[in-house]
Amino acid sequence: AKAAGRGTFRHFEPGMDEQLQRRRHLEMDLRQALVRGELSLHYQPLVNLQSGRTSGYEALLRWTHPERGSVPPADFIALAEETGLIGDIGRFVLERACADAAAWPEDTKVAVNLSPAQFRNGGILATVMRALERTGLQPSRLELEITESLLMEKSESALATLRALRALGVGISMDDFGTGYSSLSYLRSFPFTKIKIDKSFIRDLHTSPDSQAIVSAIVSLGRSLKMTVIAEGIEDPADLALLLAEGCVEGQGYLFSVPLPLDQLAPHEGDAADA
Ligand code: C2E
Ligand code: CA
Ligand code: CA
Ligand code: CA
Repeated sequence: AKAAGRGTFRHFEPGMDEQLQRRRHLEMDLRQALVRGELSLHYQPLVNLQSGRTSGYEALLRWTHPERGSVPPADFIALAEETGLIGDIGRFVLERACADAAAWPEDTKVAVNLSPAQFRNGGILATVMRALERTGLQPSRLELEITESLLMEKSESALATLRALRALGVGISMDDFGTGYSSLSYLRSFPFTKIKIDKSFIRDLHTSPDSQAIVSAIVSLGRSLKMTVIAEGIEDPADLALLLAEGCVEGQGYLFSVPLPLDQLAPHEGDAADA
């Protein structure tokens, strides 16, 4: 839809205008959010299902809006992508996450979500390198989570960038696995180190034989391809039991912990840096 020019009134679609207005406000607010320090990261433990140990944390972006309160990423990531703000926001997330992780015990990883838009205008490789350099975080402790939508653009440059990132020693996870169209072919051509089974398959695991069959297939696929398999959205102990029985290596979900601000993480993980 085209935006009406300044001073132009369009009476035929009042609903649209209102929506556009709200969007513009949100966009202006989002521009300010970084400067005002309203964006922050929460961390959700990635748990080794066998040992119960926390092997790392996924960084999840939070926006505390002065009037609206907590705005979920689902409500502003798309806007950030469309407006190009994702560049600055993505840099903030990477630097913050790497800086926080650098203070954790040495074997603890941090997973960061990347959106396809961050690959489009290039620069993501340099952004990652700079974040690692500035924070001193070992590349092997950083995992980048990408979704199939990036790969669907079938750009050679996305593949080249992923290979370069992988060559740095950074891990590459395929997020939301199973929800896309042709995930299997992507597994072959892209340098993934981890597969994250989407929570839609985990939610009803213990009641759905179909989900069980799919999860079982993904776990053995991961094993053959030598990729770690992680299940997201584990809420129910019955689902955890099934994942353990299948030999799924890692998991995350409310059963273990909701995403938490840095200072609320388990003490031995949050307090390593006193500087
Ligand atoms: P995602 O990458 O699939 O992240 C998992 C989402 O599931 C998170 O929602 C998390 O809070 C939620 N979750 C975790 N455990 C459970 C559970 O047991 N049950 C249920 N029902 N949900 C669970 P959140 O934090 O609202 O983030 C939503 C999406 O926003 C993420 O989905 C990701 O695609 C995007 N996102 C978040 N942070 C960033 C970021 O820094 N950069 C980019 N580009 N995208 C981000
Ligand atoms: Ca993710
Ligand atoms: Ca997901
Ligand atoms: Ca996602």
